[in-house]
Amino acid sequence: MSTPQVLQSASPFASPDVLLEALLAECRASLLCCDEQLIRKAFYFCLEAHKESLRASGEPYYTHPVEVARIVAREIALDDISVAAALLHDVIEDTDFTLHDIQAEFGTTISDIVDSVTKIADIVENRTITEAETYRKLLLSLIRDVRAILVKLADRLHNMRTIDALSPERRQRLARETLDIYAPFAHRLGLANLKWELEDLAFKVLHPEAYLSVARALQETRSEREAYIQRLITPIEQHLRAHGLQFEITGRPKNLYSIYHKMVNRGKPLEEIYDLFAIRIILDTDDSNECYFAYGLVTQLFTPIPERFKDFIAVPKKNGYRSLHTTVIGPEGRPVEIQIRTRAMHEVAERGVAAHFRYKAEQGVIPTWKDDPELEEWIQWVRDLFEKRSREEAAQELLESLRLNLYQDEIYVFTPKGELKRLPKGATPLDFAFAIHTEIGHHCIGAKVNGRIVPLDYKLQTGDQVEILTSKHQTPSRDWEQIVVTHKAKSYVRRYLNEQRRLKQQEGQQLLEKRLRRLHIPIREEELERVAHALKCENRSALFYALGVGAISPELVVNLLHRNGPSQTTEDDTPLPTVEQVAEIARQQSAGVELVGTPTDRTPLLYSYARCCNPIPGDDIVGVITIGSGIRVHRRNCKNVQEMVATNHPRLVQLRWGNVGSEEFIAALRITGDDRPGMLHNITKAVVACDRTNIRSVNIDSYGGIFEGIFTLYVRNTEHLERIIDKLRKIRGVHTVVRFEGA
Ligand code: MN
Repeated sequence: MSTPQVLQSASPFASPDVLLEALLAECRASLLCCDEQLIRKAFYFCLEAHKESLRASGEPYYTHPVEVARIVAREIALDDISVAAALLHDVIEDTDFTLHDIQAEFGTTISDIVDSVTKIADIVENRTITEAETYRKLLLSLIRDVRAILVKLADRLHNMRTIDALSPERRQRLARETLDIYAPFAHRLGLANLKWELEDLAFKVLHPEAYLSVARALQETRSEREAYIQRLITPIEQHLRAHGLQFEITGRPKNLYSIYHKMVNRGKPLEEIYDLFAIRIILDTDDSNECYFAYGLVTQLFTPIPERFKDFIAVPKKNGYRSLHTTVIGPEGRPVEIQIRTRAMHEVAERGVAAHFRYKAEQGVIPTWKDDPELEEWIQWVRDLFEKRSREEAAQELLESLRLNLYQDEIYVFTPKGELKRLPKGATPLDFAFAIHTEIGHHCIGAKVNGRIVPLDYKLQTGDQVEILTSKHQTPSRDWEQIVVTHKAKSYVRRYLNEQRRLKQQEGQQLLEKRLRRLHIPIREEELERVAHALKCENRSALFYALGVGAISPELVVNLLHRNGPSQTTEDDTPLPTVEQVAEIARQQSAGVELVGTPTDRTPLLYSYARCCNPIPGDDIVGVITIGSGIRVHRRNCKNVQEMVATNHPRLVQLRWGNVGSEEFIAALRITGDDRPGMLHNITKAVVACDRTNIRSVNIDSYGGIFEGIFTLYVRNTEHLERIIDKLRKIRGVHTVVRFEGA
């Protein structure tokens, strides 16, 4: 397959065989189980694929993926799959082999990881995207397989270690990216060692002078520091051993970049920074109680500073870090931080997410990403970090999620520009529209998902690209409350509807007061209240609203008030209008529908409109008596009532339309025509131009140059609908417009 001999003689660098053996040794030492055949196969594939190319340093290119694989094996110590993926990570990008070839040879798990690594590279190298965007894309790939990110971090680490071979511009760019994107990501994933090394390597490139001066200063103070650490460690070691503890104790200086950071932040020279190193006690035990015991022993020797005690065992950090931290007064009165943790906690501290995977593997569980609640929690936290832009927003969202989205899963969808939005599962295009901007939500009439128009109540899926269609004439309607699931959208819609209700109420009140003033009828609040109750309105406000929307005419109210006479008496002797009086007047000015030809037509009806056929005033209608919800009004030609109509079912009643005021009804139109640019715009324009008709939703499919769409509109009656149909038929390219009978 490969020609190692040729390569060997052609280059002065380590031979492939030597490299392979070094890698396998690394795997045997660090991995719990390792399929050596797989590693060999991936190794030779990598060798073959990259055989033609060289690195900037002049080395054969394959040395890079092999080194990356060694980093994955040693520093992340996850599994053989990620080592194999590391060997193959540059194959798609840099050679003639395709993703398909890798999939055929190694299966989908490995090819998926390689694919993700390639994509991450694309994302970061695409200079048009913002930094935040990069995080998010990284995050998305993380959801698929965390190993892709681990491989990418190892890749970046090796590139940083060998950065000297690159041009100064490329060095700067790589270092900047590393500090801005990769190091924080390593930190988020709990990969402490990787993070420190990445930081120091980038620091060296970006601030070479500062780097050198910190390194030099550390070097100069080294022997003094080491002697100090010994004076601290030795008594602790003896004391803990005397109490039977098994442990390891170290005193390592922190990484250069974090020291530099402290100097800059505190504006102090190196000599005045005392926490240059951390003393670490790693206990060989599974019992976290021993950490507290060890803490107790340490504080018998050195006085702790109580306010510096941090218990990350009881309350772990969000990235899973667990440890006790205490600062004690060391020799010469210098404060020294001591960290106490078990071996398992230390694994997590150093290797973060990879340690979780390993732990799973030790339990004999195949480490997957999906069904691990700990990892899930972790991901949740990572999401939070990247998604919540400001503290205020984060707090607000937290409240929201507590109320609404506590147990909901989340989906990730994109704007047309590729910006990511996080929504709860079940979210609709309306939620998306409100998530972008309340104005967009307000005027939303529909949405395109992945280029196709969907209904407003379509359930969005992760990965959907959503484009919102708006019309300036659109306003929120009552059924939107049922469509939206996010708190933001729900509260906005509710606020808007309440405001509309308030305005209608105000209109109704003004209408009535004007009428009463003209008739010189005094306005008495308590009388109005009584009339309201008589008309089955909850209170005066509800009565004003009914007046405002035209459900009750002012004459009816005037009549009822007038009948009782201009009363000067107390409320005891003001007679309530009787049921007969109300029915009598209601019949004259009836709202909604009326029964025809039966004795029951004298009492107000409890009714609702069937959702199957959505009858509108002007339609030929029948009613079906239901249990509990009065009469359900259907169109006579609705297929759900055909049998009842044919058999003249006893529950069927004949109805006619009464006065419906300015109430609006839902009707759907099915439109077909040429799928030409601007067609949707022409249609929506024609609809809204007709008496300012509101569109509830649009749903369009197109195939072979023809489109077919269902438009759901708010109309007042059949006449109104007919006018719209007429207008639509006149649009160039429209073939048919028919009323849609519904599903
Ligand atoms: Mn690479």
